[in-house]
Amino acid sequence: MTTAAGRFAPSPTGDLHLGNLRTALVAWLSARSQGLDFIVRMEDLDRVTSSVAFEQAQCEALTALGIDFDGEVVRQSDRFHLYAAAIDELTAQGRTYECFCTRREIREASSAPQGLEAPEGLYPATCRTLSTDQRAQFVQQGRPSALRLRADEQVIEIIDEIRGPVRAAIDDVVLRRNDGVAAYNLAVVVDDAAQHVAEVVRGDDLLSSTPRQVMLQRLLGLPTPRYRHVPLVLGSDGVRLAKRHGAVTLAQLAERGISPQQVRAMLASSLGLSDEGESPTARELLRRFDVQPLPREPWVLPPHLQRSVP
Ligand code: GLU
Repeated sequence: MTTAAGRFAPSPTGDLHLGNLRTALVAWLSARSQGLDFIVRMEDLDRVTSSVAFEQAQCEALTALGIDFDGEVVRQSDRFHLYAAAIDELTAQGRTYECFCTRREIREASSAPQGLEAPEGLYPATCRTLSTDQRAQFVQQGRPSALRLRADEQVIEIIDEIRGPVRAAIDDVVLRRNDGVAAYNLAVVVDDAAQHVAEVVRGDDLLSSTPRQVMLQRLLGLPTPRYRHVPLVLGSDGVRLAKRHGAVTLAQLAERGISPQQVRAMLASSLGLSDEGESPTARELLRRFDVQPLPREPWVLPPHLQRSVP
């Protein structure tokens, strides 16, 4: 496929819930309303939790809402060679190093009261300056190593078309995890470019990863797509939507007598695209779609769908 595309890239590790479905609907509306192709990519890097059954269920849920897509569904697990080639390219640029740190060591090091404050999770580059001896010692201890990017402490600013400008310090992001699997940020950048993704519409929990992805695009000579990050759906407790919140998947909603058409109407209304009591088709929503008036705030799951507290 060589046509510019929008995409939805779920991890096939469970049924899609209202939050995922709402993001998928916006991604589809955004792509189709601009005449872009729309592709689905299964982000199944995690071989333990991903399954073909979830893949199928996710595709069926999209179809039930009227979200169609072009071409075959692509799986990241079929594309490890592409990620390896990109990692080789960065290594040839002298941009990578092995990191033996455990999660705990990183947490402790990045919260150490020395000099600049580092946001949580930002890697303090401990292994960047390992001596040959230290490295050999870790290898001898049998510590597995991840591969990290030498990022040279850049700050990157992106403009998100929903959230506005985002500026972030870039840390030495993981390219290959210590189990040998390509890391999400690397894989997503390689795939978006290979699949001619012109626009990335996804949940705004990934907004903070975007500057890292843009840096990887620049280093690999790949184009930067347009970004539109959609506010998340929350439960009444203010926490990101999950199964425990109540009726959140199409199957659970069907048990309460709510059809996919009614779910689409509910999602459309949460996006300001339809009024209460209306049941617009997916095509009708396409005619109405505009990115500018989309809500900037998270959507809280309606009370009648929340799990009742016994
Ligand atoms: N696979 C990621 C998720 O399910 C989305 C990645 C992306 O859209 O870039 O949260």
